[in-house]
Amino acid sequence: MELNENADLDTSQVDDVRGSGGRGGGGGFGGLPIPMGGGGIGMILTVVVVIGMLVAGGTFGRSLLGGSSGSGQQGDNTQLAKDCGRNNPDRLKRTDCRNVLYVNSIQNFWQTEFPQVYGKPYQPAKTVYFSQSVNTGCGQADSGVGPFYCPADDRVYIDLAFYNELTTRFGAKGEFAQPYVLAHEYGHHIQDLLGTEAQMRRAQQRDPNNANRYSVMLELQADCYSGVWTKHATETTSTNGQPLFTSITADDVNQALQAAASVGDDAIQKKMGGGVDESKFTHGSSEQRQHWFTQGYQSGDPRACDTFGNGV
Ligand SMILES: [Zn+2]
Repeated sequence: MELNENADLDTSQVDDVRGSGGRGGGGGFGGLPIPMGGGGIGMILTVVVVIGMLVAGGTFGRSLLGGSSGSGQQGDNTQLAKDCGRNNPDRLKRTDCRNVLYVNSIQNFWQTEFPQVYGKPYQPAKTVYFSQSVNTGCGQADSGVGPFYCPADDRVYIDLAFYNELTTRFGAKGEFAQPYVLAHEYGHHIQDLLGTEAQMRRAQQRDPNNANRYSVMLELQADCYSGVWTKHATETTSTNGQPLFTSITADDVNQALQAAASVGDDAIQKKMGGGVDESKFTHGSSEQRQHWFTQGYQSGDPRACDTFGNGV
């Protein structure tokens, strides 16, 4: 992939709370014992436990709906705006700036596509950069949960250090794993705007025995939306009317597919040393995740992302 040096990056689509410091505190999170203290060992340990939620937002965000704490810490984008400005020649070497570009591209795509397909306006959603720990509309979250979307405050949350875990522990090599992850999270935002997410939750309540199956359908649809965006990414433009990507290659698509496979439920279960138990799948197998990403990529049409078949 090639990013366009002439594109302005809209850092207002990101809320940078990295400087505000993760606050510690004991206890678990979502029922999981999450070691606090961040980025290092704690994250490595917990990321394995909760990796099923990664690329998710999914279970984590949903399960804590109705939870307490108001949304968000106050961000400060001053430094980010400076670092990602066009007068910094090295800006596109920075992970934080590149991720701003990915977010801009994903939202620019849906801004056009969503009204055309669904007949209503797209509502932008910010991505929050945090380190170690963050307060969200879905409760307090630790880096260990991986990136997620919170439907209660319509935000995507990510500790950018997560990408190192994705590469080193899960073998998702290649830069394009990053936009794949972000486009998946924005896929959850699309599901939230369409009410798919709420429908799915009701279906889970009606039919708890199949709760995991419904979760898989939702997650695979988010993978499919990620593929749809990938197909159109080179058409997306910056606030100054420049293409954000000048190219996306077959290699990039393969990197997305590799990332999708690396976070498949079966791959994660194997990494954790157990057998593969399909009844515990919440996001889908490696093969399913690749299949639905490909379905989105080849069709370029979100309507082709009907993972629910006859609906929930
Ligand atoms: Zn997800």
